[in-house]
Amino acid sequence: MTTRAATIQRIVGLMVMISSTACGAGAPRAPQSVTQEPFGTADGKPITVYTLKNASGMEVRAINYGGIILSVKVPDRQGKLADVVLGFDSIAPYETNSPYFGAIIGRYGNRIAKGQFTLDGQSYTLPKNDGPNTLHGGTKGFNKVVWDAEPFDSATVRGIVFHYTSPDGDQGFPGNLKTTVTYTLTDDDRLIFDYQATTDRATPVNLTQHSYFNLGGNGSGDILGHLVTINADRFTPIDSLLIPTGKLQDVAGTPFDFRTPTAIGARIEQPDQQLKFAHGYDDNFVLNQPAGDTTPSLAATVYEPTSGRVLEIFTTEPGLQFYSGNFLDGTLSGKGVVYKHRYGFAMETQHFPDSPNEPQFPGTILQPGQEYHSRTIYKFSVRA
Ligand code: BGC
Repeated sequence: MTTRAATIQRIVGLMVMISSTACGAGAPRAPQSVTQEPFGTADGKPITVYTLKNASGMEVRAINYGGIILSVKVPDRQGKLADVVLGFDSIAPYETNSPYFGAIIGRYGNRIAKGQFTLDGQSYTLPKNDGPNTLHGGTKGFNKVVWDAEPFDSATVRGIVFHYTSPDGDQGFPGNLKTTVTYTLTDDDRLIFDYQATTDRATPVNLTQHSYFNLGGNGSGDILGHLVTINADRFTPIDSLLIPTGKLQDVAGTPFDFRTPTAIGARIEQPDQQLKFAHGYDDNFVLNQPAGDTTPSLAATVYEPTSGRVLEIFTTEPGLQFYSGNFLDGTLSGKGVVYKHRYGFAMETQHFPDSPNEPQFPGTILQPGQEYHSRTIYKFSVRA
């Protein structure tokens, strides 16, 4: 068996175990297949859209360019399906104009100050694509490369395994980084992201997923009425260029206290310096979960009262970047929707921004011989 086939078999086995634990072992279900259609070309390579459908009717479409999730259809409390993510209709805007809609982010999700870090006494310079800083892996990050993709399915889960080897020196980062990202859709409406990587030289790694959600349905208006709960007592305050100061600040008494369900819009316009720097929420929350926990813990819950849709986010990561779509300004459109200010939000599970320059933050350096593992689960449901 090839290594790749073995990886797929291992993942399917694992997912079947998870799925049968959650859904009741032995419940007979019809096998669900993954369908494929062409989606144009990028970098001279054919792009394919993979459609995953589960037994309850949830549907996820994703492509092998950037691992981009094009659409996620989930029911509201009446059972009516709507697409709850922002996106475009064709490949071109994803190549030229996308604010990371739906994409895998790497090698380093979030910002690295001044596009520089020092590792083992050597300094590295990265492309600056966010003022003086590097954002989301550089000018051609993992969101802009063509991944090898292999769909898989079993009776209760289906998904896609994406592979990409980022060569030594890619976007200034050291080491050949072999990366595997697996998307799995279960029958109980969980979309699971498994990230794995190995390297042949020490390098920073911080992988995440950048879907923008509107649980009322894409195009239903702004996201200010969504109720957000974040399981975090602290966040990492930022400077005017959205780089962490290196301190951890208590959320108590600030507009960043989401420990009880609070509308995104309730405090977003308060005269708070942190909100002003980011023009809204664009901050990393320090999740209250045991350090080094390899079981995903509940990081956040988002509830949209009109539709009844709920998104719960579980992760093994120590941080969560909550971004309230502040830089959407009506200049982009797709899927029949003009993406106006705060028409979507992102919840990016990750290590903290600028960790390679902040030794007191949880480490992001992957060493040769180690394996990077990270898991995040988006669980969709409804409330009456
Ligand atoms: C960042 C924002 C950025 C957005 C889209 C988010 O992850 O935190 O500052 O504008 O991605 O580029």
